Amino acid sequence: GYRSRSAYKLKQLDREAGLFGQGNTVVDLGAAPGGWLQVAVERVGDEGTVLGVDLQRVKDVEGAETIRGDMTDEEVRADLVERVGEADVVISDMAPNMTGEYGLDHARSVHLARMAYETALELLAPGGDLAVKVFEGPDLADLREEMEGEFEYVRAVHPDASRDSSSELYLVAKGRLTAPVREGD
Ligand code: SAM
Repeated sequence: GYRSRSAYKLKQLDREAGLFGQGNTVVDLGAAPGGWLQVAVERVGDEGTVLGVDLQRVKDVEGAETIRGDMTDEEVRADLVERVGEADVVISDMAPNMTGEYGLDHARSVHLARMAYETALELLAPGGDLAVKVFEGPDLADLREEMEGEFEYVRAVHPDASRDSSSELYLVAKGRLTAPVREGD
């Protein structure tokens, strides 16, 4: 079994959007407790590479490596980029601690999604894909529009498994248009 119900959301995203291929390098942001890592390891196979990052320690997942760190920390992001080099797929299920205050939770979620997007721009090979969780709200349109400039297309997907928290969706950006842009380039 999988460690999280989220695993089924990722399987649905993969079915609908074709995220993973055998041998891919996958970076999973907000990876704890590790359900998405389990799915990614299955999908990329023995030749693949899966690396997760989370604020929390992640119990070992066979076939994956993990880094404990805060993706809002520039140093953590730089270390990640250096360690991975180039990735085929970046996935982010990062979510803020919910306060119950809608506007605040939305803004924090968009900030985390933006961190994932900016990291993806430094990591993704041409043709690479990004799937990122975000809570619905007014700041979403700007982020989506920016993403549309960097990928062939962007879709919003509401997985069946997240129906109970209906403000959550995933932006799936397919086909990175250019090569990674590194800070300092
Ligand atoms: N996809 C995971 C799975 O299938 O097991 C579940 C991820 S859970 C919904 C969201 C995770 O995002 C939490 O483990 C949380 O610690 C992490 N997170 C939130 N903010 C973060 C940040 N700034 N940097 C790294 N991880 C973060």
